[in-house]
Amino acid sequence: MPLLVLLGLLAAGSNLLGGGLALVRRPPSPRALVVGLAFSGGFLLAVALLHVLPECLRLTPHALPLVLAGYFLVYVAEHAFAGHAHPGRHAPHGAHPLIGAHLDEHAASPIRQGAASAAAVGLLLHSFFDGAAIAAALAARTTLGWLTFLAVVLHKVPEGYSLASIVRGSAGSRRSAFWLAAALGGSSFAGTLATAAVARAAAGWDAALLSVACGMFLHIAATDLLPTTAHVRGLSVLTATLAGAGAVLLASLALARALP
Ligand SMILES: [Zn+2]
Repeated sequence: MPLLVLLGLLAAGSNLLGGGLALVRRPPSPRALVVGLAFSGGFLLAVALLHVLPECLRLTPHALPLVLAGYFLVYVAEHAFAGHAHPGRHAPHGAHPLIGAHLDEHAASPIRQGAASAAAVGLLLHSFFDGAAIAAALAARTTLGWLTFLAVVLHKVPEGYSLASIVRGSAGSRRSAFWLAAALGGSSFAGTLATAAVARAAAGWDAALLSVACGMFLHIAATDLLPTTAHVRGLSVLTATLAGAGAVLLASLALARALP
């Protein structure tokens, strides 16, 4: 239980870290952000396909429909909540409405307040499942819990960054951007605690939640994060994506040695 709380809190903190990065006087360069997105996308995709999906298949016979449901849950949430978060001219860059979209938010692109609020709701919902995935993965196996935690933390930094940028882009104050990033972390931690409670109360439900989270991971990695970086030329993005996937192999080897 203490490990669960620790990982849940650290994951929530990475939302705040991302939000903070968007609010400092000199935010990271667009190239650094794209390389970070590429690495986190590669890592998340590899964890979902190599570790989470096989575990879901082992735990429940309903894994694949639930994975598909998780994928469409993000798809629908993004259409419902984030469809109009951007001025159209962002579209040619392949930028995604929720995560990693505001790489160039300083280019004076006003976002309507309603659209910003809708994007915030979509991200809050998504963040809840990030936290849920950590608890469900930990309930299944400790190594899986750690790998899922790493995958979540890596993409939560750009998530917090995106949300804070969206708030700033809609003329929201720095204070409200900070508090929304904090709420994103809070939603994640609530997801962790709620799933841990569900896993205790009703056996099998955590496997269902893990499967839904797996589908969400696939969408976030392969439909949100990686296409955002695909238009950027240069070896650094390609290398970062492959390094992200390769880091999963290294991390799972290291965890297998470190954990009993
Ligand atoms: Zn997330």
